[in-house]
Amino acid sequence: MATTAASTGPSRWQYLDKIRRNPGPFNQDSDVGDEALAAQDKAKILVIGAGGLGCEILKDLALSRFKDIHVIDMDTIDISNLNRQFLFRQDDVGKFKAEVAAAFVEKRVKGTKITAHNGRIQDFNEDFYMQFQIVVCGLDSIEARRWINAMLVNMVDMEDQDSLKPLIDGGTEGFKGQTRVIFPTLTPCIECQLDLYTPRAAVPLCTLATIPRQPEHCIEWAHIIAWEEQKPFPNLDKDDPEHITWLYQKASARAQEFGISGVTYSLTQGVVKNIIPAIASTNAIIAASCCNEALKIATTAAPALGFEESYMMYSGDDSIYTSTFKYDKKPDCTVCGEVAKPLQVDPKMTLKELLDSFALKADLQLKKPSIRAEGKTLYMQFPPSIEEQTRPNLEKTLQQDLGLDVGHEVVVTDPAFPTLTFRFILSFV
Ligand SMILES: [Zn+2]
Repeated sequence: MATTAASTGPSRWQYLDKIRRNPGPFNQDSDVGDEALAAQDKAKILVIGAGGLGCEILKDLALSRFKDIHVIDMDTIDISNLNRQFLFRQDDVGKFKAEVAAAFVEKRVKGTKITAHNGRIQDFNEDFYMQFQIVVCGLDSIEARRWINAMLVNMVDMEDQDSLKPLIDGGTEGFKGQTRVIFPTLTPCIECQLDLYTPRAAVPLCTLATIPRQPEHCIEWAHIIAWEEQKPFPNLDKDDPEHITWLYQKASARAQEFGISGVTYSLTQGVVKNIIPAIASTNAIIAASCCNEALKIATTAAPALGFEESYMMYSGDDSIYTSTFKYDKKPDCTVCGEVAKPLQVDPKMTLKELLDSFALKADLQLKKPSIRAEGKTLYMQFPPSIEEQTRPNLEKTLQQDLGLDVGHEVVVTDPAFPTLTFRFILSFV
């Protein structure tokens, strides 16, 4: 794009101004007055993530005339990012994503200030997050989403309207994506919706060994069974083309045997490395939708997602389909709910089995849980001295050895979410 009057002068905003200056069915005269218009200029907006989604979000926000944007990302640019993270160039490889993305957008959209923070969201405290009016997430990690969600819910002070920060969360996976808008404490939070992210189910080994139905099954067979039996190389290196070629050839032969098509070298690489392809157009669509919501919230030009329908899902692999729906708040949500969750267990299971099950439960997904019950510490991951002292409990059974019973309160914590306490009321199957 050439730098012309159209791209830098006031005419750049002519279409946006039309939306913002004209009263419509959803906004009143006061929403389009000078005071309301000036409010968007002062809005401070935080973007979390400067990757595939984040690059798009930063560009879209700047072109929606947000002028004070901050961005957090801990990552540096890798050569494999360049095909879709379009703010980065070959010379940027190794530099911080947040810094490079901020500088690029600032240069192209004059009058926009973007402050880059090269770090983790966990490095910042409540005072930092309090300065923003809206938070937009373009993250690929569930853990980071849960963390910022808990932070924003905890920050809400009912006496102070400014403490409520709308959270706009975008997410993509291959051809699928979603946009959610959360008004912390008022509408369902990310933790309320955690069971949407079911921990990935593995294909049963018997399917791999006996009746593969999909090309992926043949590749997993080569990866798990054939490799172990034949050990063509001492250790599987997923980045070594020779190793992947070996798996690809084994998988192809098996696919041919069962009349399955579709095994390719790149699919083999994808399945073995568990890669979900990142698709630039999905990122562009979801980022646009997120920024559309930010603009609606900041200007009241139209009703935003949130209070009624709060979740927009997009599916681009089977025609192009979107659906927007209402998600319900969970009364026993650990973050925004008020009651303890029920927890049904087998009384004969060991404490270790119980703790392992927390990693796989869709509504928990805790990797390093510590547990207390009825005021007693049963197992603590940290510090090492307490871990050692409580370790023998791991092999004990819940009812007989540890004395747990129906109706007991169990409290679980995890270092990934320092502000959260998961409370349960026990029942037996
Ligand atoms: Zn919740």
